Amino acid sequence: MNLIWPKFHDRDYRPGHLFMMRIHLLANLSMLRSFRDTGLFLLISLIPVAILLLMLSVFPLTFDATTGVSGSIVILLLLGLLAFYLVQHVAFMVAMDLTYTPHVRNAIRRQGVPICQHCGQLLHTDDVTCPECGLSSGQLS
Ligand SMILES: [Zn+2]
Repeated sequence: MNLIWPKFHDRDYRPGHLFMMRIHLLANLSMLRSFRDTGLFLLISLIPVAILLLMLSVFPLTFDATTGVSGSIVILLLLGLLAFYLVQHVAFMVAMDLTYTPHVRNAIRRQGVPICQHCGQLLHTDDVTCPECGLSSGQLS
């Protein structure tokens, strides 16, 4: 799994921008029809918020009016915000990988482009198994 951005397909496969917009539209519609994938995506995406709320209940933000806001509290808040965004991004990537990416690969395959459903590798017509992940063509459909 890529933690920067999901790998929908092989890097050697370079579809046009309009084609990929159509693919993502089809993949979004397909995913919205799947209660399991939509629910799982939402659940995983909300985990960082749950962690944040738990942290705020354990370490409540208190403001002491007599001392004002100190620099260390501001730095701590900024670091907490940065940590939250990192955790949120990782959760988003996990959710994308588990739920959305298969819909994108299905949409690409339905357009007649032979890519591996499991890893997105561009396949040749004579490939019996995926050269990248070893998934057999019988498992690819
Ligand atoms: Zn593969």
